Amino acid sequence: MNRQFDFLMPSVNFFGPGVIAKIGDRAKMLNMHKPLVVTQESLEKIENGPVVQTIESLKKAGVNYAIFNGVEPNPKIRNIKAGKKMYEEEKCDSIITVGGGSAHDCGKGIGIILTNGDDITKLAGIETLDNPLPPLMAVNTTAGTGSELTRHAVITNEEDHLKFVVVSWRNIPLVSFNDPMLMLGVPQSVTAATGCDAFVQAIEPYVSVDHNPITDSQCKEAIQLIQEALPEAVANGQNVEARTKMVEAEMLAGMAFNNANLGYVHAMAHQLGGQYDAPHGVCCALLLTTVEEYNLIACPDRFAELARIMGYDTTGLTTMQAAQKSIDGMREMCKAVGIPSSIKAIGAKPEDFPLMAENALKDGNAFSNPRKGTKQDIIDLYQKAYDGI
Ligand code: NAD
Repeated sequence: MNRQFDFLMPSVNFFGPGVIAKIGDRAKMLNMHKPLVVTQESLEKIENGPVVQTIESLKKAGVNYAIFNGVEPNPKIRNIKAGKKMYEEEKCDSIITVGGGSAHDCGKGIGIILTNGDDITKLAGIETLDNPLPPLMAVNTTAGTGSELTRHAVITNEEDHLKFVVVSWRNIPLVSFNDPMLMLGVPQSVTAATGCDAFVQAIEPYVSVDHNPITDSQCKEAIQLIQEALPEAVANGQNVEARTKMVEAEMLAGMAFNNANLGYVHAMAHQLGGQYDAPHGVCCALLLTTVEEYNLIACPDRFAELARIMGYDTTGLTTMQAAQKSIDGMREMCKAVGIPSSIKAIGAKPEDFPLMAENALKDGNAFSNPRKGTKQDIIDLYQKAYDGI
């Protein structure tokens, strides 16, 4: 248990149905005169959707803006360069991201290269940023990555297909907005994938070497909320209560991993996402049980606790038997929301595993994994996830 730690999150976090209406006034309070709204074209087109409501509130408060709608899923370096160009041409002074993790990370990436130099690949790693980003607010529309709260910017280099992370306290948005009413229209498959991402982000920090008492309680609460609400949110996206619980869970998990870090699931999922341009939440869910089963021997007590949090009665079981139950719970949740049973589903090829394993061990998330693996261990884990969960 980490007894000396810092705890980072945005200084203001708006949560609940209808909070998006507050963004105009908040922009004014922050002296944002012309924010660049960083989003996707498909989100801009949604009638009375997240972008429309953000703009309405900005207009009402008399705040000028420009819109950059060129974010691709798994945002690429070309996206952040195009966004930077527009920021400069439009003489913007701040950034508002509207969307899921892709929009937030793209907005952070734009901010990073505006103030820290054009070559973002040189900034991959932990605390590499010398200068602050322009003021940034994040309007979140998936539940979710937690990126609206975190110090991580995950960017894909389209040239070598490498997905890398810039981790810095300077990336944390000043203000986050989580309004479940903006999420009612999220398609079923995206709800499942992003919900599984939140699930993994509640599990990895719980068994991370960097966990602390605050992140532990956040993980516990997030796991229980996800178990209650994710299947219902997938089955009936218009259920406001289920969406609201998923937003609570994704915020808790986001804060937890922002401070306790993640592990091999994320380190390995980034390689799948970069190589095959697959949805991040699906990549995480496809690796979850394989990686955590491998991790069991590093901290069986923590996994046994996870089983109890998931509702298993572990009376009379050995610690290892109880720990194994948590893997059953993970498998059950991923299956219930339609995650496939092999990484073949996203086009994974065994000949790519050696390079992906090498890069996974360099990913910033690998260092907090509870069990220390070799390159061959990671290749074996990819192979196991390929053979079928
Ligand atoms: P996403 O942002 O790529 O969005 C997925 C799809 O959902 C898109 O097509 C988008 O248009 C659609 N969508 C989003 N909101 C919608 C809405 N309200 N209504 C209808 N459609 C909507 O997916 P994501 O899972 O949120 O983000 C994934 C990215 O975030 C990955 O690149 C991943 O690596 C990164 N990530 C970042 C962090 C971090 O802390 N920075 C953490 C985890 C993941």
